[in-house]
Amino acid sequence: MKRIYLDYAATTPTHPEVVKAMLPYFTDVFGNPSGIYSYGQEAKGAIEETRAQVAELIGARDEEIVFTSGGTGADNFAIKGVAFANDNKGDHVITSSIEHHAVIETCKFLQGKGFRVTYLPVDEYGLVDPQDVKKAITSKTILISVMHANNEMGAIEPIAEIGKIAKEGGIYLHTDAVQTVGHIPADVNEMGVDLLSISGHKLCGPKGVGALYIRKGTKLVPFMHGGDQERRRRAGTENVPGIVGLGQAAKIAQQETSEEAERLSSLRDKLIEGILERIDHTHLNGHPSRRLPNNVNVSVDFVEGESMILNLDLQGICTSTGSACSSSSLEPSHVLLAMGLSHEQAHGSLRLTLGKWTTVEEIEQVLDVLPGIVAKLRAMSPLLKSHG
Ligand code: PLP
Repeated sequence: MKRIYLDYAATTPTHPEVVKAMLPYFTDVFGNPSGIYSYGQEAKGAIEETRAQVAELIGARDEEIVFTSGGTGADNFAIKGVAFANDNKGDHVITSSIEHHAVIETCKFLQGKGFRVTYLPVDEYGLVDPQDVKKAITSKTILISVMHANNEMGAIEPIAEIGKIAKEGGIYLHTDAVQTVGHIPADVNEMGVDLLSISGHKLCGPKGVGALYIRKGTKLVPFMHGGDQERRRRAGTENVPGIVGLGQAAKIAQQETSEEAERLSSLRDKLIEGILERIDHTHLNGHPSRRLPNNVNVSVDFVEGESMILNLDLQGICTSTGSACSSSSLEPSHVLLAMGLSHEQAHGSLRLTLGKWTTVEEIEQVLDVLPGIVAKLRAMSPLLKSHG
């Protein structure tokens, strides 16, 4: 059975061109980039080339990019780095209630260290209101962190408007752009952000590598202490093959983003319309148009998300409910609850995320099998019996 992969928001297959670009850096060009001999300098050169590629993709300057161990590493660096470097100015951080755990848990950690954190609500579409950001600002606010787009239900947040508010208040703005960079335009100057997180494995690059954009002049403490790498902002011998892979992924994304976004949006809409039409008592989660081109998230009444996933998997179709990081937990998604869904609706959510190798035939295949799976599950559902 040929499997259909529809969980691109959790991770993407590594692009063959990315793998090809990485390979020499495991064997031929294996030198430590800190070495002054040619082996080292070649590796260093490849890192600097990637820095330029990543910078170009987001409209930054090369020296504003620091490589990290992925999106989680970038989020931790941004939030803790700014908080600890600016605690003489204030102790207040503003974020949203729909952030990825990499941001939420970092904020909770800061609360344990005496910082105060405001978790902003979202509307029924999952959008943060920039006016709520404005109202939450106090004289002690040092950082605002709001994600560019949500990984679960795909809403694209009004970062440029929040950027203006942050600038007026002289407050640093971080955005977790893990789900957007390489997929939709994410320009640091257009958005007015000071810090932006990127993860390699969400844009057909390798896992375990990412980057943090740090606007020149931003005050933050280093994430790791040790050697002089990354201009002393993140010590440790660089993951050269991973960084090269990220660079290649960024290069490919830059060439393909707009065409690919258009292709995926049309597949996404076909899937959404097909599900809502063919299965009654289904609801789209997230905004109908302010939405990532590859994200479909629906709640199917009277059915558990986990049961749908397992049944789809038996048909060779990989999907998810909530985020990958919380799929092992039975807690309903904090994102869907924040949008006002009931526990039952949140438990009945199904996320299908499309990507580079998704075809129209695959979408049709899902639309063929999903109604039957839902009907079968509903027939034995205690949720439907209690409703009836
Ligand atoms: N932020 C968002 C929005 C994500 O979707 C993810 C991954 O699911 C992360 C951060 C974490 O990135 P990484 O897996 O590279 O640590």
